[in-house]
Amino acid sequence: MPTERYTAKVAIVGTGAGGATAAAVLARAGVDTILIEQGRYYKPEDHGDILTSMRRMYVNGGMTLALGNPPVPIPLGCAVGGTTIINSSTCFRPPRAKVDHWEGPSWEALEPCLREVETRLHVGPAEESLLGNNYQVLKRGCDKLGIAIRPLAHNLYGCKSSGRCAFGCPTGAKQSTDRTFVPDAIEAGTRLYTEHTVTDVIRKGGRLVGLKGETPSGAFEVYADVIILAMGALTTPAFLLRHRLATGSRRVGRGLRIHPACRVAAEFDEIIDGHVGLPQGACIDHWANRGIMLEGISLPPGPLLSALPGAGARFKELAAHWRQIATFGIMISDTSVGRVMRGIGDSPFTAIYQLNQADTESMRFAMVRLGELYFAAGAKVLYTNALPYPVIRSMDELRKFESCRIRPSGLELMAFHPTGTCAMSATGKTGVVTAGLQAHDMPNLYIMDGSVIPCALGVNPQITIMALAWHGAAQLAAEIGN
Ligand SMILES: Cc1cc2nc3c(=O)[nH]c(=O)nc-3n(C[C@H](O)[C@H](O)[C@H](O)COP(=O)(O)OP(=O)(O)OC[C@H]3O[C@@H](n4cnc5c(N)ncnc54)[C@H](O)[C@@H]3O)c2cc1C
Repeated sequence: MPTERYTAKVAIVGTGAGGATAAAVLARAGVDTILIEQGRYYKPEDHGDILTSMRRMYVNGGMTLALGNPPVPIPLGCAVGGTTIINSSTCFRPPRAKVDHWEGPSWEALEPCLREVETRLHVGPAEESLLGNNYQVLKRGCDKLGIAIRPLAHNLYGCKSSGRCAFGCPTGAKQSTDRTFVPDAIEAGTRLYTEHTVTDVIRKGGRLVGLKGETPSGAFEVYADVIILAMGALTTPAFLLRHRLATGSRRVGRGLRIHPACRVAAEFDEIIDGHVGLPQGACIDHWANRGIMLEGISLPPGPLLSALPGAGARFKELAAHWRQIATFGIMISDTSVGRVMRGIGDSPFTAIYQLNQADTESMRFAMVRLGELYFAAGAKVLYTNALPYPVIRSMDELRKFESCRIRPSGLELMAFHPTGTCAMSATGKTGVVTAGLQAHDMPNLYIMDGSVIPCALGVNPQITIMALAWHGAAQLAAEIGN
């Protein structure tokens, strides 16, 4: 098999939130940069039907998970744009209290980077006209119970309400990194290599000098003075462990947080058509001080039906009413902590995560509050998918659910925000990278992805990851010049 050889000052692996931002900042500063991505570069018109999109743009077609009881699916993107191409386009700044507490860049240092990122991504609050009935119906319940619900900020430009952010935006309105920082980097001189999967490292005299990997037609090697890993919070630590990089602190792979999530669906007499409008249009942060965020999560009919409970004739009856079903999501700032280990066989990682009882109670608390809002809005039935009350038909049953014994294994969870596995820290004893995202024990290795966030952020993390990468890359550019 032929081996392609590339050289650059900086080689970056991954084109998601962290890697693409770092490439744009470095290239614009005149640094010779290579960007390596295992996935393909899709245009909006390439985004096919939902199953095709999942097969093409999700790692393992969406079948990635953390082992535990329950196991938690954690979908990841595999394309230019990384997970940003399949995300819900919700944008939050990191909470100030978290930034003040972490051993990373100060708020004063990070804030200009947040502004740069937000400007480039056209971040702004969603117009109410885009939010659809899924929002309107819950707002009715919120207004009755005096709870605030508000439109979320998004990175959208000219949204046409296609209702399928998580399967690739078919109109190109979502300002994911494939449409922003990757083109910026290429315009400034970055060379992008797609369908290049990094599998190994190249060392010379004990020093990391490059990476090697596979393409559909052969092999490649890339030699660089500085290497930036931005493969995501599950893959990067597993890669470090497999190749014994930056493992001096013994913190690599530890500290996994995922923001465990679930949803409550509610059946109404009226037509909701939740798939029309922004899937994650609005949020309720009334219980944020308990680590609970409620955020919209409407699904197209296929995924919606596969997420509802039941079988046989009863399920058929429920499916016939799919247009009357509203859904909203719940996300917890987890106190549970998981771990990433090197993958077994060819698998890029093994993740282990066991939800603890405190987080289980928080999840139940949030489901009950959401149920109250839906009943206040006029819902007939709630679908929690949580044992022992997967279906709830009255306030009485909701109260029983509130006080029954509940176990983590009785919940059906998902998660979308892995972080924490190569945490920023002041010293190599407590974390893996510095505030500038340089490995404590390997000066020419940087990590610029979700793994450096050292805590459960409490809000969706893409803007934080981009701002941290911007900050780290700007510092690196100043150090190495061109
Ligand atoms: C369905 C869904 C919805 C979400 N919604 C939101 C949201 O609304 N708002 C928000 O803030 N966050 C959201 N997120 C999370 C957010 O998108 C991620 O936190 C963020 O993209 C992570 O950035 P990253 O740089 O760590 O990794 P990623 O964006 O995952 O990028 C990693 C990149 O590395 C590449 N890669 C991995 N291994 C290799 C290898 N061996 N060789 C070459 N390339 C490799 C991958 O293909 C990928 O392109 C969502 C996530 C999901 C799954």
